[in-house]
Amino acid sequence: MNIEKMIRPNVYSLSAYEAKQIFCKIKLDANESPYELHSGILSDLLSIKNQGLFKTLNRYPDPHATNLKKAASKYFGVSSDKLLQGNGSDELIYYLITTFGGPVLYPVPTFSMYGIISQALGEKKIEIKLDKNFDLDVERILNIIKKEKPRLIFLSSPNNPTGNCFSLDRILKIIESTKEKSIVVVDEAYQPFSSNKGFIPMLNDYKHLVLMRTLSKIGLAGLRVGFLIADKNIINGVNKVRLPFNLNSLSQAIATMVLDNKKLLKEYIKSIVSERDRLYKEMIKIRGIKPYPSEANFILFKVEDSDGVYSSLLKKGILVRNMKGIINGCLRVTVGTPEENRIFIGELSEIVE
Ligand code: PMP
Repeated sequence: MNIEKMIRPNVYSLSAYEAKQIFCKIKLDANESPYELHSGILSDLLSIKNQGLFKTLNRYPDPHATNLKKAASKYFGVSSDKLLQGNGSDELIYYLITTFGGPVLYPVPTFSMYGIISQALGEKKIEIKLDKNFDLDVERILNIIKKEKPRLIFLSSPNNPTGNCFSLDRILKIIESTKEKSIVVVDEAYQPFSSNKGFIPMLNDYKHLVLMRTLSKIGLAGLRVGFLIADKNIINGVNKVRLPFNLNSLSQAIATMVLDNKKLLKEYIKSIVSERDRLYKEMIKIRGIKPYPSEANFILFKVEDSDGVYSSLLKKGILVRNMKGIINGCLRVTVGTPEENRIFIGELSEIVE
């Protein structure tokens, strides 16, 4: 029996998302937070008060993630009926495409899962190149929207891997022109690090606007928790395809506690933002590399011999992301702790200069 022939052609031709596990002293490749869970929260979690949690692991988790949604509702400042919980935003992208179908339009380069999941579900992908400033080529996008009538549009702002936010007026033009026609998803995975306000305040004006938020970039990548924020009609629609117990009990409990600690999260975010700005200033001083300004927790940079620099950093125990095939000649570095950033800058200068 030829199993390969049985795989649907759209899946057969897919390349699996490569999440390489390379163990390194300094890990700056996956846009995670460099800060571990605060010991105060950890001890709370292990305290007698929370022993109940461990006693109920023989039961399924709360299918509605009631407590977590309560905490998230307070954290984001939206009512619980505008929230849908996901096993990371990756799962929510799956649910959105399953619910609304394609064509699915997005600018490139951007987060690869929009394309991978569209293809896995057999939906048409429409990829439109960003302009030379990594901003939306809005005239082209509007023309193609008219012609192709996409059901879903994904805009990651700040964008991964370029790090910039798209111009607000361009995003608004797209949102305005798609009322009643397409669902526009603004993926705000990196919004906490941006100087822009984000789109939550606009949800009341646009019933076809969906926002995605994740806890992965702000310290909880291991828990796999993300949220959709949208009008309740969209939430109810997407909820129909959500697996009943998609978020496990431990993730729900820990994420609830952390979200209730908004002050602490804000401190971590503030420190990452100030380190990012310091890192950028240090990087522009290094001859032979060109860092791009960032509103996220990572910096994209161009360097001659990017493969060589990537390998040399790896030999020194520093893992960054090689963007080969996505933006040739570029590497992407996640903002680490001040000490990690200091070592990275030192080694990078030595390698390049
Ligand atoms: N959106 C963007 C733009 C991302 O960069 C990432 C993570 N790389 C995700 C979504 C996925 O986040 P999660 O860990 O919540 O699945």
